[in-house]
Amino acid sequence: MSANSPVENGLKGLCPECGEGALFSGFLKFANCCEACDADYTIEDAGDGPAVFVIFAIGIFIIPLALAFSMITKLHMIWTILLFTPIIILVSLYLLRLMRGIMFNLQWTNNAIEHRAVKHRAETVAHSADKEET
Ligand SMILES: [Zn+2]
Repeated sequence: MSANSPVENGLKGLCPECGEGALFSGFLKFANCCEACDADYTIEDAGDGPAVFVIFAIGIFIIPLALAFSMITKLHMIWTILLFTPIIILVSLYLLRLMRGIMFNLQWTNNAIEHRAVKHRAETVAHSADKEET
């Protein structure tokens, strides 16, 4: 089990089991398994959870900032839209990566995964134990 907290591992994009291997193989795509401890990531199913947190964060922090910018500068609204659209997209993608890592680490640590994933994980552990015996 990892010595780091699940949130710390998630922020760094590290494996929830060992805290050493990379969690992501792409910017937002999870790897199939940990390169260090061979933990199976295919059971990952955070669903809409990370996106919901990102939507709330953007709605609470960025949108009021955009509206304040528009009111203070008194520029036409199209300039606010042109300026803040790329900011919102980039911040959303970055936060989505962080939230996916955190939520998967928390799910793994608390064993809070769907029943089919629990069954799959149990079969994987049993299969690993069988391989070690032979
Ligand atoms: Zn690992």
